Amino acid sequence: MRLRLGFLLSIVLLVSCQSTAETTKTVDMYNTSGDMVGTARLLEQPDGVQIKLKLEGLTPGFHGVHVHEYAKCKAPDFKTAGNHLDPEGKEHGLMHPDGAHLGDLPNIEADAGGLVDAELMLPGATLKEGKMSLLRGEGTSLIVDETQDDGVSQPSGNTGARILCGEIKSGNKSESTESPTDPTEFNEKQEE
Ligand SMILES: [Zn+2]
Repeated sequence: MRLRLGFLLSIVLLVSCQSTAETTKTVDMYNTSGDMVGTARLLEQPDGVQIKLKLEGLTPGFHGVHVHEYAKCKAPDFKTAGNHLDPEGKEHGLMHPDGAHLGDLPNIEADAGGLVDAELMLPGATLKEGKMSLLRGEGTSLIVDETQDDGVSQPSGNTGARILCGEIKSGNKSESTESPTDPTEFNEKQEE
């Protein structure tokens, strides 16, 4: 009897793991020259969205990182991404008493070789539908800044230029359900 219960329990655990595994998203990060310099892996959690950042080619030291309101990374200044994502009308900064924006994240640090391997958390955010969704509308974007976020200055923490950008959109190629084009179909049409 005890064995059977254990078996049932492991099935329940397996099923619940699978449902969270479906809400992941990998975002390609680009610099202002259009080179891909890393990825951000987004993972839906019960209390927010976890972001695993792997980047290269940065200036060693601290950099601000934020989710912005539009999924439009147009070089060279990435201004097309808009302001920090802020669905609740708060002030900027993780240390601001009336903060923070939903898109405000802790600074990341690039090592002496310019590499970043960081795990960040965006509390309250989701990849599912709703006001706090990173995929609402046409999506949002993740931007890394030239310098560190001071945590209080308005409107964006005095972070200097935007240096990396990645678009967070629904319907990424990895999650697409579209079937690949059948090459024989093309041939048949040509013969007609
Ligand atoms: Zn902000």
